[in-house]
Amino acid sequence: MTKQQPPVDGYCEQCGFNYDTGDLQGTVTLLIRQAADCSMALTKAAAGPDPSVVRLRPEPDVWSAIEYACHVRDVLEVQRFRIAQCLAEDRPVYAPMDRTGRVKQQKYEDQDPMEVAAALVRFAREFGAAARVLTPPQLGKLGLYNYPVRAPRTLGWIIRHTAHEIQHHRLDLITILAQVEPPIVSKAKPEPPPAVEETTTD
Ligand SMILES: [Zn+2]
Repeated sequence: MTKQQPPVDGYCEQCGFNYDTGDLQGTVTLLIRQAADCSMALTKAAAGPDPSVVRLRPEPDVWSAIEYACHVRDVLEVQRFRIAQCLAEDRPVYAPMDRTGRVKQQKYEDQDPMEVAAALVRFAREFGAAARVLTPPQLGKLGLYNYPVRAPRTLGWIIRHTAHEIQHHRLDLITILAQVEPPIVSKAKPEPPPAVEETTTD
């Protein structure tokens, strides 16, 4: 099952993100909260009755929870570097992130979920700190962006797109864990049949 590629403008029907609404501060606040949600969902699953669920792919070509969490963490780091690059250079050309290559190269499936969860929150805060202070002229600055097609994008779009990535993958991560996670409280056992009273005979 190959999922439809999420949009990079307007409204995303899959996760409800809208590129056309919300101001910068609200967008950043939402991003930090949703990164924390990803982090918590991963931590909770890794500390649950079967920690291996974080490494289960629900379908061969759908990432596991740890793979999504690593991706979100790396997106936050790469996008923060892109903010810095955009401010420092005249006509920034962003290097591709290689989202699929990283999964194997950086061994996403072997990473420690607790470390990934902690890094995810830290990188979201660092991204947020870099984004919150941008001025309107800075937000309007263009750079050449590669995904999903090579196109000039403003820094303001990069902030929104990063927020969309986090919101979209938060939903992916929670959906996957709901599919593969065993319940924390095991199903109530059916009531044992009432004991048949032994009748004693004299
Ligand atoms: Zn979406």
